[in-house]
Amino acid sequence: MQREAQSEASDRQDTRETRDVVVVGGGASGLMAARAAARRGLSVALLERTAQVGGNLRTHRDGDWQIELGPNTLMMKPPLHALLEELGLLDEAQPANPDARRRYIAYRGMPVTLPSHWLKAPINSLIGPRGMGALLCEPFRRRAPQAEESLADFVTRRLGRRALNHLVDPFVSGVYAGDPERLSAQAAMPRLVALEREYGSLVRGGLVRLRQARRAPPALPREWRGQLVSFPTGLQRLAGRLAEDITAQPDATIHCECEVSSVYREGEYWRVETASGQDFRARELVLAVPAPTAAALLAPLDPQLVVPLNEIAYPPVNAVSLGFRCADIAHPLDGFGMLIPGVEHRQTLGALFSSTLFPGRAPSEHVLLTAFLGGRRQPEAAASDDDAQVAQVVADLRDLLGISGEPVWQSVSRWPQAIPQYELGHLERIAALDEALERHAGLSLLGNWRDGIAVGDCLENGRRLGERIAETLGGD
Ligand SMILES: Cc1cc2nc3c(=O)[nH]c(=O)nc-3n(C[C@H](O)[C@H](O)[C@H](O)COP(=O)(O)OP(=O)(O)OC[C@H]3O[C@@H](n4cnc5c(N)ncnc54)[C@H](O)[C@@H]3O)c2cc1C
Repeated sequence: MQREAQSEASDRQDTRETRDVVVVGGGASGLMAARAAARRGLSVALLERTAQVGGNLRTHRDGDWQIELGPNTLMMKPPLHALLEELGLLDEAQPANPDARRRYIAYRGMPVTLPSHWLKAPINSLIGPRGMGALLCEPFRRRAPQAEESLADFVTRRLGRRALNHLVDPFVSGVYAGDPERLSAQAAMPRLVALEREYGSLVRGGLVRLRQARRAPPALPREWRGQLVSFPTGLQRLAGRLAEDITAQPDATIHCECEVSSVYREGEYWRVETASGQDFRARELVLAVPAPTAAALLAPLDPQLVVPLNEIAYPPVNAVSLGFRCADIAHPLDGFGMLIPGVEHRQTLGALFSSTLFPGRAPSEHVLLTAFLGGRRQPEAAASDDDAQVAQVVADLRDLLGISGEPVWQSVSRWPQAIPQYELGHLERIAALDEALERHAGLSLLGNWRDGIAVGDCLENGRRLGERIAETLGGD
């Protein structure tokens, strides 16, 4: 009854707010879904809770300091290249400094780079003769049964504990702020697992894939191959251009400060109600919001949608940006950054050398570092106040980078629900969700909690969904 009364009332005020598609959430995923549907001639409304679109893509400038609050780099791949070309952003895109190919990993209190050639691996402290031995034996290890296993078990089984502790653990911190003991190898690193499945070995599979890539026609122009990219005004530029492109379509609108408070089915339409009182009806509804938000919106509709969404862990992560005088850091900062494995027993997960990565991030004679605290193993490390966060990072990095002075500029960006964890059972959860979704025609769920957390994955998954919807509804 209440719903009926609500819908009658809103029928009167919002008949003009009927769309083919309503997309809830204006992050990378939602923006691309909305853009793809709008470009295929559908009428689209994108509803975003905050004052600006972009979600995690957020850049902040303060004088000569420029920081990313969320992601710092995009990996250039053919779909991203095509998108930047369509948006007229390719000329603006900045490849990262070639030094960014150098990656430091903390090892017994020292920053050590990964070897530049496999022949140097035995004398590299991260790998050493034992690690090299494990690598050489890897092709002869038996394939495991096809059951799901943790990333830690998978890597230890194939490459040994040393590779887990000193290589994979820091990598997992850098990407997921995650715990390899809990992450599902199959869900978090499907390409790595596919090498064992298809070739019986990571080393053998890696070599075959390398040969195939060398023989195949180049997928990208030479200057963009393997590049990490940003823009002079930061990654938020991409979100801004996507928004411009959406609103340039004949029948597409973006509504910021428009928090969706409930969604429900009404006849052949989805009804979308917002906290600001702007209500919409749509033939297709896309929720491109974090899993807990989707769960809260869908709770009155179907508990079977809610359970798997609520099981996805979202630990907090803070990005702590620190500016120093060059003279106060002994390390040359000649790389992408430094990752700190759990076995080093520090709270900081790692630090990007942000002013090395791209020009224009720090005033002259200064450098910018972006460090991360929190994550799955130490969520409590993200809880203290800003000054304590800065002090913790400085204490963790002081000896590693030879820091002699105090930061001259600082900023702490807090992400209370930062990065969804693809943990054991994740693929089953997603399968259960997809099965439950079949009962709800015209409802799609999208976001970094499924099918890849990199911005590039979110963009591509959004594009695919938008196009699929256009096909269903008979767009151009
Ligand atoms: C600190 C950090 C560093 C990262 N670094 C990198 C990196 O270097 N490279 C990389 O590729 N990836 C990185 N990532 C991951 C990447 O940023 C994300 O996976 C991706 O941007 C997520 O996009 P999304 O659209 O799925 O979700 P989000 O960006 O979370 O977007 C969801 C949107 O929904 C909106 N919303 C929520 N509730 C509602 C509601 N009720 N009504 C309306 N709108 C709502 C939110 O305001 C938000 O704008 C990083 C992430 C973090 C947190």
